[in-house]
Amino acid sequence: MQQQIHPLLSPSLGTQRQLVSWHFGPADAGRKVYIQASLHADELPGMLVADHLRGLLQAAEARGDLRGEVVLVPMANPIGLSQTLMHHQVGRFELGGMENFNRHYPDFFALVKDVVADQLGPDAEVNKRLIRAAMGQALDAQKPATELQSQRQVLMKLSHDADLVLDLHCDYEAVMHLYVEQPMIEQIAPLARYLGARALLWARGSGPLISFDEALSGPWWRLQEHFRDRAPVPLACASTTVELRGQTEVSDAVAAQDAQAIMNYLQERGVVAGPAPALPEALCEPTPLTGTEDLHAPHPGVVVFHSQVGDVVKAGQVLADIVDPMNQRRTPVATRIDGVIYARHNLRWATAGMEVCRVAGHTPIRSGNLLSP
Ligand SMILES: [Zn+2]
Repeated sequence: MQQQIHPLLSPSLGTQRQLVSWHFGPADAGRKVYIQASLHADELPGMLVADHLRGLLQAAEARGDLRGEVVLVPMANPIGLSQTLMHHQVGRFELGGMENFNRHYPDFFALVKDVVADQLGPDAEVNKRLIRAAMGQALDAQKPATELQSQRQVLMKLSHDADLVLDLHCDYEAVMHLYVEQPMIEQIAPLARYLGARALLWARGSGPLISFDEALSGPWWRLQEHFRDRAPVPLACASTTVELRGQTEVSDAVAAQDAQAIMNYLQERGVVAGPAPALPEALCEPTPLTGTEDLHAPHPGVVVFHSQVGDVVKAGQVLADIVDPMNQRRTPVATRIDGVIYARHNLRWATAGMEVCRVAGHTPIRSGNLLSP
């Protein structure tokens, strides 16, 4: 294992943050996996899974079982982790500029398509290397002006040439679920099965505020379509956002289980030597992100849930009541679709319009920006 330190741009005087990456296995084998944890800072299950993964990867490396490089960033957001406000940990958004830590990643499709247009030839493998080189040059050309921009640049430099990318997050209260770009479903589905995912949510681009995982897998299918009649482009990076259940589901037992599931997947993909354990039965079918329903509080009140995350629900079913004791209002919040409750808020006080919970269904019901800002 090799450790690398990546200093971030210093935002002020007398302070300097850094990212740490651990590198396992041969860097010259032509295969690379990138895994990072807690990009939203206050999403801790990923950090604990990373801690368990480190031990498993070290053991695999010692056995000589790694067939490629695995890069592990055990905590991807030192800026967010330093945001303690009134005794609370504030993740997700950077307090300085209110930007989401998991948005505003580069649009590599726009950045490289004209650069590589005259270079691509008949060999998909050569084209892959040319496209990755162009991505690397685009990243080198960035001149970060802020600490947050420099953090994004470091994470992208570490991950843009990986074949597989796992971005470990969690939701407020949730069952295991994953986000993936639709053309990469086949590559990611075995991971969903090993992890026991209850939802595998796919999109073909979720909007203009590009998330980390989408920045890495999105350009490949877009370039493949763009050059369809001129040159072969492989789906060279399968990336996914893994939502490791809810924020407080932090335990060694669960983290060890998730880390082992990830190792099983790496074995199934041939990055770790040896036969992979049999794939467990899939607990869900891939469903479109456009088929998810966000349920909101119609007025302020106390949230009283009548349902749990993981419940399979029917259209019309009441999932919660919003209770306003000052005005004697109790308003049911019902889902409009059949599906599974994959996430819900951890607050039990709702301001008007607050998102209460989310249901994943099979049928598209929305379009436009599919992710929150
Ligand atoms: Zn997150």
